[in-house]
Amino acid sequence: MTEKIVQSDPDCIFCKIVAGLIPSKVVYQDEELFVFNDIHPWAPVHFLVIPKMHIPSMAQIGPEHAGLLGRMMTLAPQLAVQEGCNPYPDGGFRMLCNTGAQGGQEVHHLHIHVMGGPRPWLKG
Ligand code: 5GP
Ligand code: ZN
Repeated sequence: MTEKIVQSDPDCIFCKIVAGLIPSKVVYQDEELFVFNDIHPWAPVHFLVIPKMHIPSMAQIGPEHAGLLGRMMTLAPQLAVQEGCNPYPDGGFRMLCNTGAQGGQEVHHLHIHVMGGPRPWLKG
């Protein structure tokens, strides 16, 4: 299945969150990225880093997205500490990116889960 990259998909729940049509607990945003708390957290800290642009998954990522992905990856550790993850190495956090049905992806707008805080966690 080939899915086109569009700026925003009116049927996408995360595009609606970016547009403010669905409320969320916003952690951070800038011109191209949006970060908000997961509605069903697995861990004491659990937020999602997404591009504002509707990219369905990692399967649509090409070399032209290197900068965007780099920004998502480098923002995550900063926000993890800000949101209450304990310092590395005794603390730390998990970054996870489910891709496609067999990869466990439920929402088809690219997102990186960032989870942390004291264990036990609900999952993972
Ligand atoms: P996936 O399984 O696609 O990797 O993860 C999707 C995540 O989005 C899930 O952890 C789920 O709890 C979260 N999620 C789904 N709908 C909403 C919503 O409306 N608001 C927020 N904040 N999170 C959502
Ligand atoms: Zn979307």
